[in-house]
Amino acid sequence: MSDQRSSLPLSRTCLITGGASGIGAATARLLATQRFRVIVSDIDFPIGAREEFARQQIETVLCDVTRESDVAAWIEGAARATGRIDCLVHSAGVGLVKPITDVSEAEWDRVLDVNLKGAFLCAKHAIPHLRRAGGGSLVNIASNAGLLPRFHDPVYSISKGAVVALTKTLALCHAPEKIRVNAVCPGPVGDTRMMDADLASAADRERAFRDRLAASPIAHGLGRMIRPDEVAESVAYLLSDATVFVTGCCLTIDGGKSLGVPQTLFGD
Ligand code: NAD
Repeated sequence: MSDQRSSLPLSRTCLITGGASGIGAATARLLATQRFRVIVSDIDFPIGAREEFARQQIETVLCDVTRESDVAAWIEGAARATGRIDCLVHSAGVGLVKPITDVSEAEWDRVLDVNLKGAFLCAKHAIPHLRRAGGGSLVNIASNAGLLPRFHDPVYSISKGAVVALTKTLALCHAPEKIRVNAVCPGPVGDTRMMDADLASAADRERAFRDRLAASPIAHGLGRMIRPDEVAESVAYLLSDATVFVTGCCLTIDGGKSLGVPQTLFGD
């Protein structure tokens, strides 16, 4: 694939936050095979990850999405290096499993800063470049928690609900400039640092895993969680010309989790 790619011009530039792992990394790898020039950022990269990305012609930059100076420098640097920015995917995110009464001010700030303020800063600094390119596309990785509040992680649900609101609002504001703003709302995604940490913090890991499958009818039926590459396919779809009229869409990828109370959880 890389031989074939090197003989073809790269067509569009896509920036991805939180690209070191999980959904962001899977999206980077998929877009790189679709002739995107991909520049991922993260607060850190696991050992060897930057070299592996380089082999796939994916560029890596350190950037903390909670710091405006970092986000601005990353986006401006990418624009200078590539000449244009066509798309940005905000995948950086953190979870917090705690009742609201136990949440410290610092924890509240961290979750809202990474998940919501990060999306705001990316939009703020990317939109002028998308405008200059004659249009473009933003995709936020929200969550099913942004569509229906969840019992176990209220601050995370609040942050993702706000990401859904930000997505729809910016979609409305920037549609006249041919800038599309969409989100995906995944259910339980395995092979991610976030899910690994979530399961590791449970008193009974196996039970926590089964509970997460039980809440998503298709995950339950298949006996597995959603894979990061399956979310990446939907992101690529929302970035593609196949969805040129799609904006303000929050595409649910949760195996039916947000539809209602599934058969597996039914009780009186
Ligand atoms: P992940 O933990 O593998 O990836 C998240 C990445 O964000 C990490 O690489 C992390 O280093 C990075 N990050 C954290 N704080 C940052 C900061 N301040 N600046 C820059 N990067 C930062 O988990 P993931 O599941 O791939 O998460 C990607 C997105 O998907 C998140 O927004 C998450 O909320 C969302 N999501 C995940 C699931 C799931 O089940 N894993 C479900 C729904 C939505």
